[in-house]
Amino acid sequence: MLVGPLFALTGCPESAPNDAPNGKPLRVEMAILAMGIRPELKVYALDRERGVLWLEKGAEAIHRIDALMSTYKPDSELSRLSAAETNVWHPISRELMEVLKLSRRLSKESGGRFDVTVRPMIQLWRKAAEEKRLPTDEQVAAARRRVGWDAVELDDLKLRIRLKKPGMSIDLGAVAKGYAVDEAVVAMKKAGATAGLVEAGGDLFAFGLKPGGKKWTAGIRNPRAADGRRGRATEPAMLTVLRISNMAVVTSGHYERFSEIAGKRYSHIIDPRTGRPVDQRLASVTIVAPTCALADGLATAVAVMGAEERMRLIERLENVEALIYMDDGPDKPLRAIRSTGLAAMEADEIAAGP
Ligand code: AMP
Ligand code: MG
Repeated sequence: MLVGPLFALTGCPESAPNDAPNGKPLRVEMAILAMGIRPELKVYALDRERGVLWLEKGAEAIHRIDALMSTYKPDSELSRLSAAETNVWHPISRELMEVLKLSRRLSKESGGRFDVTVRPMIQLWRKAAEEKRLPTDEQVAAARRRVGWDAVELDDLKLRIRLKKPGMSIDLGAVAKGYAVDEAVVAMKKAGATAGLVEAGGDLFAFGLKPGGKKWTAGIRNPRAADGRRGRATEPAMLTVLRISNMAVVTSGHYERFSEIAGKRYSHIIDPRTGRPVDQRLASVTIVAPTCALADGLATAVAVMGAEERMRLIERLENVEALIYMDDGPDKPLRAIRSTGLAAMEADEIAAGP
């Protein structure tokens, strides 16, 4: 996995002026390597030095959350917790408590379809994909006995957690990336930034406005376009563009991540009720929400929920919108499903990315 303090300034050549001409804000950008992906941060600043400082604060926050919540790093707080004894109280960080509380809320809201305790099932299916052999019913049943969000006890006041079932463990792959984006935005704003954008592997938060009072744009990629995995030259690259400010937009292309066993594709998202990967043809899910962690979590949750219950959930939540594309087969066009307030965010014409 790619980690480390490495970062690069992009879109800002050395020859660029250090101060904004005529007080017009400069756009300063940075790409970092964290969470196994390449998050990008942007700000508008009156001088470049200050812009770089704000970006560095954002980058630090992403590395901090990665160090706490990665399931790939054996020494992350989350990995240590998963390896620790169950049915005993363990102290946790404020950040981990915050994400676990959000996860618990998502579990309740989704009727248990979202569940960060699915890790034993994820591990079972990951191993199956490696060995190219489906797990047995007994193995699935054994993993199910180790899963259940209601067996997680959180003590908010004392900042501690207790996992009540033997062999339980937690995977925050569905929300931690969004939370890292949120924390980066908080850090940048705290340092003084008033307009910027943080994007990490499909999770995005834009704050403030661009010079001239313009909103930021988030392009929704077409999973069938030529640059997609199963792309076709005739399809447009973008399906639509959303105009946003002070909002998160998370897009999950469920076509992107899957494994193959005996010629059949299996999603990386597990239905906790069955202990098996979800079997749905959601080509792409986009969630707009006030925080990126919530948008990220919901994008995963709706992938496990049925068509009607998922839209009921989205409509019930305040300031949350969804745009879902269903794939009904290669001969049919993608079918768009929009929540009530989504269309008001869509730009008239498909513009370039953010
Ligand atoms: P995302 O890419 O945000 O959709 O998150 C997918 C990741 O969430 C997977 O790789 C798993 O780590 C985790 N996950 C899988 N199934 C679930 C589930 N039912 N509830 C919560 N997290 C899940
Ligand atoms: Mg997610």
